[in-house]
Amino acid sequence: MDLIQFQKLFKKEPKYRLGQAKKALFQDLIQNWQTAKVLPLSLREELNKECSIEISEKTFISKDKNTVKALLTLEDGLKVETVLMRHKDKRNTVCVSSQVGCPLDCSFCATGKMGFKRSLEAWEIVEQVLFFARYLKKIKERITNIVFMGMGEPFLNYQNVIEAIKILNDKEGFNLGARHFSISTVGIVEGIEELAKEKLQINLAISLHAPNDELRSKLMPINKKYPIKKILNAIDDYIEKTRRRVMFEYIMIRDLNDSEEEAKTLARLMKKPLYFVNLISYNPTGIFKPSLSSRIKKFKEILEKEGVAVTQRYRFGEDIEAACGQLVAKPR
Ligand code: SF4
Repeated sequence: MDLIQFQKLFKKEPKYRLGQAKKALFQDLIQNWQTAKVLPLSLREELNKECSIEISEKTFISKDKNTVKALLTLEDGLKVETVLMRHKDKRNTVCVSSQVGCPLDCSFCATGKMGFKRSLEAWEIVEQVLFFARYLKKIKERITNIVFMGMGEPFLNYQNVIEAIKILNDKEGFNLGARHFSISTVGIVEGIEELAKEKLQINLAISLHAPNDELRSKLMPINKKYPIKKILNAIDDYIEKTRRRVMFEYIMIRDLNDSEEEAKTLARLMKKPLYFVNLISYNPTGIFKPSLSSRIKKFKEILEKEGVAVTQRYRFGEDIEAACGQLVAKPR
Protein backbone atom coordinates (compact mmCIF):
# COMPACT_ATOMS: atom_id res chain seq x y z
CA MET A 1 0.00 0.00 0.00
CA ASP A 2 1.16 3.50 -0.80
CA LEU A 3 1.05 5.28 2.58
CA ILE A 4 1.26 8.76 1.03
CA GLN A 5 -1.70 7.99 -1.20
CA PHE A 6 -3.54 6.61 1.83
CA GLN A 7 -3.06 9.86 3.79
CA LYS A 8 -4.02 11.86 0.70
CA LEU A 9 -7.34 10.04 0.29
CA PHE A 10 -8.31 10.86 3.86
CA LYS A 11 -7.43 14.54 3.59
CA LYS A 12 -10.69 15.20 1.79
CA GLU A 13 -12.73 13.12 4.28
CA PRO A 14 -14.10 14.16 7.68
CA LYS A 15 -11.46 13.64 10.41
CA TYR A 16 -13.10 10.61 12.04
CA ARG A 17 -12.91 8.59 8.80
CA LEU A 18 -9.17 7.97 9.18
CA GLY A 19 -9.76 6.55 12.66
CA GLN A 20 -12.46 4.26 11.28
CA ALA A 21 -10.16 3.05 8.52
CA LYS A 22 -7.30 2.40 10.95
CA LYS A 23 -9.63 0.46 13.24
CA ALA A 24 -10.85 -1.67 10.34
CA LEU A 25 -7.33 -2.31 9.11
CA PHE A 26 -5.41 -2.86 12.35
CA GLN A 27 -8.00 -4.02 14.85
CA ASP A 28 -10.71 -5.77 12.84
CA LEU A 29 -7.91 -6.99 10.56
CA ILE A 30 -9.94 -6.79 7.36
CA GLN A 31 -8.31 -8.30 4.27
CA ASN A 32 -10.11 -6.14 1.72
CA TRP A 33 -11.53 -2.61 2.04
CA GLN A 34 -14.89 -3.87 0.75
CA THR A 35 -15.55 -5.42 4.17
CA ALA A 36 -15.02 -2.11 6.03
CA LYS A 37 -18.75 -1.42 5.92
CA VAL A 38 -18.40 1.59 8.19
CA LEU A 39 -16.78 3.49 5.30
CA PRO A 40 -18.85 4.82 2.38
CA LEU A 41 -18.90 2.59 -0.69
CA SER A 42 -17.16 5.14 -2.93
CA LEU A 43 -14.27 5.47 -0.45
CA ARG A 44 -13.96 1.69 -0.13
CA GLU A 45 -13.75 1.38 -3.89
CA GLU A 46 -11.15 4.09 -4.11
CA LEU A 47 -9.12 2.47 -1.32
CA ASN A 48 -9.26 -0.91 -3.00
CA LYS A 49 -8.06 0.61 -6.25
CA GLU A 50 -5.30 2.78 -4.87
CA CYS A 51 -4.35 1.33 -1.47
CA SER A 52 -4.78 -2.42 -1.74
CA ILE A 53 -4.31 -4.34 1.52
CA GLU A 54 -4.37 -7.80 0.01
CA ILE A 55 -1.24 -9.79 0.75
CA SER A 56 0.19 -12.33 -1.65
CA GLU A 57 1.79 -15.14 0.32
CA LYS A 58 2.84 -18.71 0.68
CA THR A 59 3.18 -20.24 4.16
CA PHE A 60 5.27 -23.06 5.57
CA ILE A 61 4.50 -24.61 8.97
CA SER A 62 7.07 -26.49 11.06
CA LYS A 63 6.33 -30.06 12.20
CA ASP A 64 5.77 -28.98 15.80
CA LYS A 65 3.49 -26.17 14.49
CA ASN A 66 5.33 -23.61 16.63
CA THR A 67 6.94 -21.84 13.70
CA VAL A 68 5.28 -20.48 10.60
CA LYS A 69 7.26 -18.91 7.80
CA ALA A 70 5.57 -16.73 5.18
CA LEU A 71 7.00 -15.80 1.83
CA LEU A 72 5.37 -12.55 0.79
CA THR A 73 5.46 -11.24 -2.77
CA LEU A 74 5.94 -7.48 -2.96
CA GLU A 75 4.39 -5.20 -5.58
CA ASP A 76 7.53 -5.28 -7.74
CA GLY A 77 7.61 -9.08 -7.63
CA LEU A 78 10.48 -9.37 -5.14
CA LYS A 79 9.95 -11.74 -2.24
CA VAL A 80 10.55 -11.32 1.45
CA GLU A 81 10.35 -13.79 4.33
CA THR A 82 8.79 -13.28 7.73
CA VAL A 83 8.44 -15.74 10.59
CA LEU A 84 5.97 -16.31 13.40
CA MET A 85 7.23 -18.03 16.54
CA ARG A 86 4.59 -19.36 18.90
CA HIS A 87 5.98 -19.73 22.41
CA LYS A 88 4.71 -22.14 25.05
CA ASP A 89 3.83 -19.25 27.37
CA LYS A 90 1.33 -17.94 24.76
CA ARG A 91 3.59 -15.22 23.41
CA ASN A 92 3.51 -14.87 19.63
CA THR A 93 6.61 -13.23 18.20
CA VAL A 94 6.89 -12.07 14.60
CA CYS A 95 10.38 -11.78 13.17
CA VAL A 96 10.24 -9.20 10.39
CA SER A 97 12.61 -8.38 7.55
CA SER A 98 13.75 -4.83 6.87
CA GLN A 99 15.43 -5.39 3.48
CA VAL A 100 15.22 -7.79 0.56
CA GLY A 101 18.51 -9.62 0.98
CA CYS A 102 21.33 -7.94 2.86
CA PRO A 103 24.50 -6.12 1.76
CA LEU A 104 26.55 -7.13 4.81
CA ASP A 105 27.51 -10.70 3.90
CA CYS A 106 28.11 -12.20 7.34
CA SER A 107 29.79 -15.54 6.74
CA PHE A 108 27.34 -17.57 8.85
CA CYS A 109 24.20 -16.14 7.24
CA ALA A 110 22.17 -17.44 4.30
CA THR A 111 20.48 -14.06 3.74
CA GLY A 112 23.84 -12.40 3.22
CA LYS A 113 24.66 -14.95 0.52
CA MET A 114 21.64 -13.97 -1.60
CA GLY A 115 23.01 -10.45 -2.03
CA PHE A 116 21.12 -7.22 -1.63
CA LYS A 117 18.10 -6.18 -3.69
CA ARG A 118 16.61 -3.17 -1.90
CA SER A 119 15.34 -1.77 1.39
CA LEU A 120 11.71 -2.23 2.31
CA GLU A 121 9.19 0.60 2.51
CA ALA A 122 7.54 1.14 5.91
CA TRP A 123 4.30 -0.39 4.64
CA GLU A 124 6.12 -3.50 3.41
CA ILE A 125 7.35 -4.01 6.97
CA VAL A 126 3.89 -3.36 8.47
CA GLU A 127 2.40 -5.84 5.97
CA GLN A 128 4.50 -8.68 7.40
CA VAL A 129 3.00 -8.03 10.82
CA LEU A 130 -0.53 -7.67 9.46
CA PHE A 131 -0.22 -10.97 7.67
CA PHE A 132 0.44 -12.83 10.92
CA ALA A 133 -2.09 -10.78 12.88
CA ARG A 134 -4.74 -11.96 10.38
CA TYR A 135 -3.38 -15.53 10.59
CA LEU A 136 -3.56 -15.55 14.41
CA LYS A 137 -7.01 -13.98 14.49
CA LYS A 138 -8.39 -17.20 13.00
CA ILE A 139 -7.26 -19.07 16.12
CA LYS A 140 -8.23 -16.19 18.44
CA GLU A 141 -4.66 -15.25 19.25
CA ARG A 142 -2.67 -12.04 18.93
CA ILE A 143 0.86 -10.91 18.17
CA THR A 144 2.65 -10.02 21.40
CA ASN A 145 6.16 -9.18 20.17
CA ILE A 146 7.87 -7.95 17.02
CA VAL A 147 11.58 -8.42 16.43
CA PHE A 148 13.62 -6.95 13.57
CA MET A 149 15.80 -10.02 13.14
CA GLY A 150 14.74 -11.19 9.70
CA MET A 151 16.40 -10.40 6.38
CA GLY A 152 18.51 -7.26 6.24
CA GLU A 153 20.15 -4.77 8.60
CA PRO A 154 17.43 -2.56 10.14
CA PHE A 155 19.72 0.43 10.71
CA LEU A 156 20.58 0.54 7.01
CA ASN A 157 16.87 1.27 6.54
CA TYR A 158 16.44 3.39 9.65
CA GLN A 159 13.65 5.79 8.59
CA ASN A 160 11.33 3.09 7.28
CA VAL A 161 11.93 0.81 10.26
CA ILE A 162 11.09 3.59 12.72
CA GLU A 163 8.08 4.67 10.66
CA ALA A 164 6.78 1.07 10.66
CA ILE A 165 7.24 0.84 14.43
CA LYS A 166 5.35 4.11 14.91
CA ILE A 167 2.47 2.86 12.75
CA LEU A 168 2.28 -0.41 14.69
CA ASN A 169 2.61 1.38 18.03
CA ASP A 170 -0.16 3.91 17.21
CA LYS A 171 -2.95 3.68 19.79
CA GLU A 172 -5.62 4.25 17.14
CA GLY A 173 -4.16 1.48 15.00
CA PHE A 174 -2.38 -1.78 15.85
CA ASN A 175 -1.55 -0.49 19.33
CA LEU A 176 1.37 -2.76 20.24
CA GLY A 177 3.34 -1.26 23.16
CA ALA A 178 6.83 0.04 22.35
CA ARG A 179 8.44 -2.33 24.85
CA HIS A 180 7.26 -5.24 22.71
CA PHE A 181 9.51 -4.25 19.77
CA SER A 182 13.17 -5.24 19.43
CA ILE A 183 15.68 -4.15 16.84
CA SER A 184 18.73 -6.31 16.25
CA THR A 185 21.70 -4.62 14.56
CA VAL A 186 25.25 -5.60 13.68
CA GLY A 187 26.21 -2.36 15.44
CA ILE A 188 25.67 0.48 12.95
CA VAL A 189 26.79 3.26 15.29
CA GLU A 190 24.80 6.05 13.62
CA GLY A 191 21.62 3.99 14.07
CA ILE A 192 22.35 3.39 17.77
CA GLU A 193 22.90 7.14 18.22
CA GLU A 194 19.66 8.00 16.43
CA LEU A 195 17.66 5.44 18.38
CA ALA A 196 18.90 6.92 21.66
CA LYS A 197 17.24 10.19 20.62
CA GLU A 198 13.86 8.66 19.75
CA LYS A 199 11.18 8.85 22.38
CA LEU A 200 10.42 5.16 21.90
CA GLN A 201 11.02 2.59 24.60
CA ILE A 202 11.92 -0.22 22.23
CA ASN A 203 14.55 -2.88 22.87
CA LEU A 204 17.94 -2.95 21.25
CA ALA A 205 20.07 -6.02 20.51
CA ILE A 206 23.59 -6.19 19.09
CA SER A 207 24.73 -9.15 16.99
CA LEU A 208 28.17 -9.58 18.51
CA HIS A 209 29.09 -13.22 17.80
CA ALA A 210 32.80 -12.84 18.62
CA PRO A 211 34.74 -11.44 21.56
CA ASN A 212 37.60 -9.89 19.54
CA ASP A 213 37.95 -7.87 16.33
CA GLU A 214 40.10 -10.39 14.51
CA LEU A 215 37.49 -13.15 14.70
CA ARG A 216 34.53 -10.79 14.37
CA SER A 217 35.92 -9.26 11.17
CA LYS A 218 36.23 -12.77 9.70
CA LEU A 219 32.60 -13.56 10.56
CA MET A 220 31.17 -10.11 9.88
CA PRO A 221 33.07 -7.92 7.40
CA ILE A 222 31.19 -4.83 8.70
CA ASN A 223 33.31 -5.11 11.86
CA LYS A 224 36.14 -3.36 10.00
CA LYS A 225 33.98 -0.24 9.85
CA TYR A 226 32.38 -0.68 13.28
CA PRO A 227 34.84 -2.53 15.51
CA ILE A 228 33.79 -3.81 18.94
CA LYS A 229 35.15 -0.87 20.95
CA LYS A 230 33.33 1.66 18.77
CA ILE A 231 30.06 -0.24 19.16
CA LEU A 232 30.41 -0.63 22.92
CA ASN A 233 31.14 3.11 23.29
CA ALA A 234 27.94 3.87 21.37
CA ILE A 235 26.04 1.39 23.56
CA ASP A 236 27.36 2.96 26.76
CA ASP A 237 26.09 6.36 25.54
CA TYR A 238 22.78 4.78 24.57
CA ILE A 239 22.39 3.23 28.03
CA GLU A 240 23.27 6.50 29.71
CA LYS A 241 20.58 8.30 27.72
CA THR A 242 17.83 5.66 27.83
CA ARG A 243 18.59 3.60 30.97
CA ARG A 244 17.48 0.56 28.96
CA ARG A 245 19.05 -2.90 28.94
CA VAL A 246 20.86 -4.00 25.80
CA MET A 247 21.08 -7.57 24.62
CA PHE A 248 24.23 -8.94 22.96
CA GLU A 249 23.52 -11.91 20.73
CA TYR A 250 26.20 -14.56 20.41
CA ILE A 251 25.72 -17.39 17.92
CA MET A 252 27.57 -20.47 19.12
CA ILE A 253 29.55 -22.02 16.25
CA ARG A 254 31.47 -25.23 16.83
CA ASP A 255 35.22 -24.76 17.33
CA LEU A 256 35.06 -21.23 16.00
CA ASN A 257 33.90 -18.89 18.76
CA ASP A 258 32.97 -21.28 21.59
CA SER A 259 36.23 -21.94 23.50
CA GLU A 260 36.69 -21.30 27.22
CA GLU A 261 39.22 -18.60 26.36
CA GLU A 262 36.64 -16.85 24.19
CA ALA A 263 34.06 -17.08 26.99
CA LYS A 264 36.51 -15.37 29.34
CA THR A 265 37.32 -12.61 26.84
CA LEU A 266 33.59 -12.09 26.24
CA ALA A 267 32.95 -11.93 29.98
CA ARG A 268 35.48 -9.11 30.33
CA LEU A 269 33.60 -7.07 27.69
CA MET A 270 30.12 -7.84 28.96
CA LYS A 271 30.53 -7.33 32.68
CA LYS A 272 28.60 -4.07 32.80
CA PRO A 273 25.27 -3.05 34.26
CA LEU A 274 22.36 -3.29 31.80
CA TYR A 275 24.35 -5.50 29.41
CA PHE A 276 23.13 -9.06 28.93
CA VAL A 277 24.21 -11.87 26.64
CA ASN A 278 21.94 -14.20 24.70
CA LEU A 279 23.62 -17.40 23.53
CA ILE A 280 22.07 -18.85 20.38
CA SER A 281 22.86 -22.27 19.02
CA TYR A 282 23.95 -21.85 15.39
CA ASN A 283 21.45 -22.96 12.75
CA PRO A 284 23.34 -24.85 10.08
CA THR A 285 23.27 -23.05 6.73
CA GLY A 286 25.81 -25.39 5.23
CA ILE A 287 28.84 -23.37 6.23
CA PHE A 288 29.55 -24.08 9.90
CA LYS A 289 28.34 -26.48 12.57
CA PRO A 290 26.48 -25.66 15.79
CA SER A 291 28.40 -25.91 19.07
CA LEU A 292 27.88 -29.06 21.12
CA SER A 293 25.38 -28.50 23.90
CA SER A 294 28.04 -29.41 26.50
CA ARG A 295 30.19 -26.59 25.08
CA ILE A 296 27.33 -24.08 25.27
CA LYS A 297 26.70 -25.12 28.85
CA LYS A 298 30.35 -24.59 29.79
CA PHE A 299 30.46 -21.24 27.95
CA LYS A 300 27.37 -20.07 29.82
CA GLU A 301 28.80 -21.19 33.16
CA ILE A 302 31.97 -19.18 32.61
CA LEU A 303 29.97 -16.04 31.82
CA GLU A 304 27.75 -16.56 34.86
CA LYS A 305 30.75 -17.16 37.11
CA GLU A 306 32.18 -13.85 35.96
CA GLY A 307 28.93 -12.11 36.90
CA VAL A 308 27.58 -11.59 33.37
CA ALA A 309 23.80 -11.77 32.85
CA VAL A 310 23.23 -14.52 30.27
CA THR A 311 20.32 -16.38 28.70
CA GLN A 312 20.06 -19.09 26.07
CA ARG A 313 17.62 -18.88 23.18
CA TYR A 314 15.43 -21.76 22.11
CA ARG A 315 15.88 -22.61 18.45
CA PHE A 316 12.79 -22.25 16.26
CA GLY A 317 11.77 -23.54 12.88
CA GLU A 318 14.90 -25.32 11.73
CA ASP A 319 12.95 -27.78 9.55
CA ILE A 320 11.40 -24.99 7.47
CA GLU A 321 14.54 -22.86 7.29
CA ALA A 322 12.96 -20.18 9.40
CA ALA A 323 15.66 -19.92 12.01
CA CYS A 324 18.13 -17.08 12.46
CA GLY A 325 20.40 -16.61 9.50
CA GLN A 326 18.37 -18.95 7.31
CA LEU A 327 15.97 -16.56 5.59
CA VAL A 328 16.72 -16.40 1.90
CA ALA A 329 13.34 -15.89 0.16
CA LYS A 330 13.98 -18.66 -2.34
CA PRO A 331 11.34 -18.73 -5.01
CA ARG A 332 9.38 -21.93 -4.34
S1 SF4 B 1 23.35 -11.79 9.79
FE1 SF4 B 1 22.03 -10.01 9.47
S2 SF4 B 1 23.46 -8.38 8.89
FE2 SF4 B 1 24.58 -10.29 8.61
S3 SF4 B 1 24.25 -10.83 6.43
FE3 SF4 B 1 22.65 -11.86 7.65
S4 SF4 B 1 20.89 -10.49 7.57
FE4 SF4 B 1 22.72 -9.29 6.99
